[in-house]
Amino acid sequence: MSELLPTSTAGSLPKPSWLAEPEKLWSPWKLEGGALTEAKQDALRVSLSEQQSAGIDIVSDGEQTRQHFVTTFIEHLSGVDFEKRETVRIRDRYDASVPTVVGAVSREEPVFVADAKFLRQQTDSPIKWALPGPMTMIDTLYDAHYKSREKLAWEFATILNQEAKELEAAGVDIIQFDEPAFNVFFEEVNDWGIAALERAVEGLRCETAVHICYGYGIKANTDWKKTLGSEWRQYEETFPAIQASNIDMVSLECHNSHVPLDLIELIRGKKVMVGAIDVASNIIEQPEEVAATLRKALQFVDVDKLYPCTNCGMAPLSREVARGKLRALSAGAEIVRRELTASRVAA
Ligand SMILES: [Zn+2]
Repeated sequence: MSELLPTSTAGSLPKPSWLAEPEKLWSPWKLEGGALTEAKQDALRVSLSEQQSAGIDIVSDGEQTRQHFVTTFIEHLSGVDFEKRETVRIRDRYDASVPTVVGAVSREEPVFVADAKFLRQQTDSPIKWALPGPMTMIDTLYDAHYKSREKLAWEFATILNQEAKELEAAGVDIIQFDEPAFNVFFEEVNDWGIAALERAVEGLRCETAVHICYGYGIKANTDWKKTLGSEWRQYEETFPAIQASNIDMVSLECHNSHVPLDLIELIRGKKVMVGAIDVASNIIEQPEEVAATLRKALQFVDVDKLYPCTNCGMAPLSREVARGKLRALSAGAEIVRRELTASRVAA
């Protein structure tokens, strides 16, 4: 692994067309039963090899075994009825038909632990595993049981902690919680959102991360971004409390966004996964553009704490575009690594 500026992705990568319909979220599986299990593992191997050949340092499963980053986890829990659906507004942005919480939620068995063990067997590189964050989970459900967002988030945090501990035991090096909802519900984030996240990481010895972005490059998100004005200062609302929390790393959207990078100063001391790849565009970045984003971020992140990354997951992109973007990320990080090494030698 590169000691300086180790690269990784925010999480999801495109699925092969023989596994699920490509360039789509919530795409149905094309196989079932034992054939599906085998195909998911094959896709995981392909995804891993794509990351390795692109030179990505911290690898993931590319979320090949999940249909969606939130719903697949919830599907494995009891207390949620997927047949009983209600329409809710997701992240205050778009309506979706979602399952209903009908009773006490619990995890009857591990959700991703077997997949994480499988990935661990395939590589000696550090691995990162993404789980949905408690606040983002409750935002994707209709709650007819607890009738309290905070209470339900706390229950999910307890469940996530059980899963995270088993992922750690399976050899996962970094456990990341995806919390795009942190960019929307600021008051709740500060009231109980970060506390719920800290409950989810309680007792873990591996590294922990929170991913906060402006969403996948789907229309509902790109339309919302157009309403945010010329400066996106959402991170300013939550960073002070995140800085004070015991989460080790923060994964952010930077490249091509309107986030003023000086906001990163607010989490000084944390490791920062700087999004240097735009996932809402099919244009493959030039390595020099990636390098420019990383150089700017270096003004606000200590060099040993900067982790070049993508803005968000790349599941909705074509495999060819995603492959190009992974290579650009590696090449851009390498440019900055060389500059840093040269300046160290000179000094
Ligand atoms: Zn994201």
